[in-house]
Amino acid sequence: MVGDNVSAIIEFIKESQYCVALTGAGISTLSGIPDFRGKTGIYNKFDINKMFDYNTFLSDPSYYYKASKDFIYNIENRKPNIIHLELTRLENCGLLKSIITQNIDLLHTRAGSKKVIELHGSPRTHTCINCGKKFDYENIACIVRQDRIPLCTFCNGHIKPDIIFFGESLDPLFLQQAVEECSKADLILALGTSLVVQPAASLPLYSLENGGSLVIVNQTETPLDEIAAGRYPDLEKVFLEIKECL
Ligand code: ZN
Repeated sequence: MVGDNVSAIIEFIKESQYCVALTGAGISTLSGIPDFRGKTGIYNKFDINKMFDYNTFLSDPSYYYKASKDFIYNIENRKPNIIHLELTRLENCGLLKSIITQNIDLLHTRAGSKKVIELHGSPRTHTCINCGKKFDYENIACIVRQDRIPLCTFCNGHIKPDIIFFGESLDPLFLQQAVEECSKADLILALGTSLVVQPAASLPLYSLENGGSLVIVNQTETPLDEIAAGRYPDLEKVFLEIKECL
């Protein structure tokens, strides 16, 4: 069912017992954050695949820091939008149990959401790839904004954000938590994700196997459209309705 009957999504949420949101880059574009983890893409003259490529990082960390300076290390200037804020409100009033996100922009937690599973990690912390010393975001952002490359204060090694790069495995703990949440869910809201990249692409199936329902809100088609109980193209329109009616 693809359509504009936005009121149906309100009923889905109201009637659900355990609703889980699965979010992707599409929900942050309203906050001015580019969809930079797509399969291909160029952002600000930098090659996105190269930027998040693990081997590239090992051989030349400066590429990542130069390419990401303007958005990953400028997160303070990006504000949570109506979708992040409404998801937080739904959690606070018991209508949403958790958020599983592919995003690395920290906007769910900045909006106040509590149970957030960050599948691709986040730049909240950074780790020295030599000695394992941890550094927090503020520390590193301050250095990157001065066009410098952060180095470990303990061993002078290179420091990598705790974002899962291409070529790295997901954290099995986060993945397990995501599978558990989806298995419990009787409603999955897939928001702003094209449901192409694994494991996000298969997470809704854990709910569907247990008799749950999937509602997709995404600008473009997804491979799971055919098995979704509801399918809407316009995130902002849907969340304005949720704000109004729930
Ligand atoms: Zn170190």
